[in-house]
Amino acid sequence: MKITAINVYQIDLPLQEGRYAWSGGNSVDVFDSTVVEIETDAGITGVGEVCPLGPAYLPAFAEGARTGIRELAPRLLGLDPARPMQVSYFMDAAMRGHNYVKSPLDVACWDILGKVAGLPVCDLLGGRYGKDIVLYRAISQESPEAMAARCREYQSEGYSRFQLKVGGDPDTDIERIHACADVMRPGDVLVADANTGWTRHAAMRVAAAVSDRDVYIEQPCAEYAGCLQVRRSTARPFVLDESMDGMAPLLQGLADSAMDVVNIKIAKVGGLTRAHRMRDVCVEAGIAMTLEDTWGGDVATAAIAHLAHSTPEPMRFSVTDFNSYVTTAFAPGAPRRENGRLVAPDAPGLGVTLDYGVLGAPVWRTAT
Ligand code: MG
Repeated sequence: MKITAINVYQIDLPLQEGRYAWSGGNSVDVFDSTVVEIETDAGITGVGEVCPLGPAYLPAFAEGARTGIRELAPRLLGLDPARPMQVSYFMDAAMRGHNYVKSPLDVACWDILGKVAGLPVCDLLGGRYGKDIVLYRAISQESPEAMAARCREYQSEGYSRFQLKVGGDPDTDIERIHACADVMRPGDVLVADANTGWTRHAAMRVAAAVSDRDVYIEQPCAEYAGCLQVRRSTARPFVLDESMDGMAPLLQGLADSAMDVVNIKIAKVGGLTRAHRMRDVCVEAGIAMTLEDTWGGDVATAAIAHLAHSTPEPMRFSVTDFNSYVTTAFAPGAPRRENGRLVAPDAPGLGVTLDYGVLGAPVWRTAT
């Protein structure tokens, strides 16, 4: 089988809540997402999606994804997409870095391999564990009272795991964490995610001020050394995210005992090939994971569901269903949240098709 064409679509994804805000005064109202579709000489197609969390979260931005795909995609024509790990290796040889550019192309290859094998992607990645996946809800940065009210609202929709967007003024963040911890029920899980937003001294103050609360601290500082300092000073369980953008930092983090949980985002690490390799190392090391993406809609959510459902349940700390955060559906077959839970589709591949009526015409195409 050979890749004969690659189509790129752009789609705007407005938010149900109107706005998503996190550390450093950053926010997004409408996500700019990119969907790729790989065509083959066998008539089988595969899809993938990349949606950066705006331009200021990771070294990635929406137009950069499309520009990078325009650079890389013509060199993939003629390769066999049913060998995704080989395609991933070839993409690394053809373009250094730029994981987020490669991610949707890699995911589309896994979709094709699943269709060739007649298996859902979760079976290719190791097999389905459990009947469904427990989701977490990200709580956009607002006043402490508003965030606690959001936690209550999402508790009533079936969620039991909450990730607070902090990383702002440390005194307000301390209030945010206490206000939300006050509304947690037995068994609920609370994470305070600073998204690199605190200086070391601010992070040390916050960690000390919430030391008596049942809360996880996620990525307090931008630099790994700062995170390590905070981790070693607190008894709170600790999550690393932005620092964990590949296998090398993961192995360093394991050697340093720098975290209890790792956040693996598919686009951050370059697709399902790398995400499942890192996942397997974490399983071996006894490190639980948040499994998600930087953002996205139906296709990104389907890829997350397959990665998560093929991960042993005790190792799944939390998982995100981005398509329930946005207003626009564009891929029939994508999994939908039900009572705070998600199920990976049973159909071969990712189990989704594209709704061209919503996506419109490709913004770019390359073909043999
Ligand atoms: Mg995070």
